[in-house]
Amino acid sequence: MSERRIELVRGDITRLAVDAIVNAANTSLLGGGGVDGAIHRAAGPELVAECRTLGGCRTGQAKITRGYRLPARHVIHTVGPVWNGGRHGEEGLLASCYRSSLELARAHGLRTIAFPAISCGIYGYPIAEACAVALRTISAFLAEDPAIERVVLVCFDAAVHDAYAASLAEPAPAASVTARERMLGCLLGSVVGDALGVPVEFRSREQLSADPVTGVRGHGTYDQPPGTWSDDSSLLLATADSLSHNGYDPPDMMARFLTWLQGQAYTPHGKVFDVGIATRSAILRHAQGAPADAWGGRDERDNGNGSLMRIAPLSLFTRALSPAEIVRCSMEVSGLTHAHPRSQLCCAYFSLLLPLALLGWPLERAMSQASRHLAPFVPEAERGPLARILDGSVVAAPVREIRGSGYVVHCLEASLWCAANQPSYERAVLAAINLGEDTDTTAAVTGALTGAMYGQRAIPEAWLRALASREYVEGVCERLVDRIDEEMPRR
Ligand SMILES: [Mg+2]
Repeated sequence: MSERRIELVRGDITRLAVDAIVNAANTSLLGGGGVDGAIHRAAGPELVAECRTLGGCRTGQAKITRGYRLPARHVIHTVGPVWNGGRHGEEGLLASCYRSSLELARAHGLRTIAFPAISCGIYGYPIAEACAVALRTISAFLAEDPAIERVVLVCFDAAVHDAYAASLAEPAPAASVTARERMLGCLLGSVVGDALGVPVEFRSREQLSADPVTGVRGHGTYDQPPGTWSDDSSLLLATADSLSHNGYDPPDMMARFLTWLQGQAYTPHGKVFDVGIATRSAILRHAQGAPADAWGGRDERDNGNGSLMRIAPLSLFTRALSPAEIVRCSMEVSGLTHAHPRSQLCCAYFSLLLPLALLGWPLERAMSQASRHLAPFVPEAERGPLARILDGSVVAAPVREIRGSGYVVHCLEASLWCAANQPSYERAVLAAINLGEDTDTTAAVTGALTGAMYGQRAIPEAWLRALASREYVEGVCERLVDRIDEEMPRR
């Protein structure tokens, strides 16, 4: 209801004829770069003269002046937090900026107020997170205050506009499924998808269309009991375990991959029955003492889906970092076993996409934002192979153009396609398996994405109940989510 008073515009905040525009100021209040400089230039020198009398402003607080030569009658100056990883009270300070500004507006009887995206410029606050904080705070204020008639959110670029538009369009799912449920949905959803796909790995689409998978089966390709998960989940759980014990430490992940390959850990029944060629070669190079930059294969033929299938825990762990940091970490962790840029970029794309799914963004909007953030890192040679992912057109492709093979691009395309064209976790995972070929991995990646979109409760209980070593799997997943929650308390 209160959302109707929030308006989204692209453009120049200094031109708005509202009661007050908000300035993203620094603590001196004497002007700076970005929107701060633009407001001071448009208001004229009288503004800085009045600001000199105010004695600065603390982060999270706000002060008011006249607007001078601006069309707006007043300027409310607020100081946003500098992003420092998310563990230094940034969220509370940012919320306080919006709340303090609205309280000042109310105290001065102002009815219309325009905000820039505070802290989203050189202060480095992740845009999707910042926009979510802004909307939550403004909506809560408006729900209790009928006097403010209109709040204009002024977006200086497309990324901010998309972030707000997505949150405004779909506030309900974000509120009804918590971030924790989505993170557990992502990890467990991946393991469950893997287990469902294992019995029919390498079956063709034709074979599966005659006998489609509709739930948990056993035996088949590797003659394993129902609910048995494979290398996909083993490496995902090893990654999760490494992150929850050691934080970001890629060589520690690799050491854990080795203990798995030796059958000492991360298996459902104490033995390894499936391992990709590129992954095995990389782990053996590590075991033989090769330097880290020689572990992962770099040849174009090394672009299997073996790093994409285990990247989800890292995507969750890095979700609050800047896009450039997310890309760097994902490329490095992919490179442990898959060091060709194509595999690395697919992992980076997935890690840029997942935080937006956790915020409840509609998938196609999240895809275009992830592409925009990845674009500066995509070399010319990779634009062709990744084209349908980067321009989002894969979601509208006919099924005959979607492959479930072990090639990393096919795997990512198929997962996006299933997630976009099916209405639930359950249907998306079954669709992924019934594409045929590398069924367990396509379902594991699809399961991670749709588990994040729909949350843990969307995974059928019968599928979870069938999972081999269910308590162990849930324990590893919960430990990682606990650590992420501890380090970055949200909602
Ligand atoms: Mg497998």
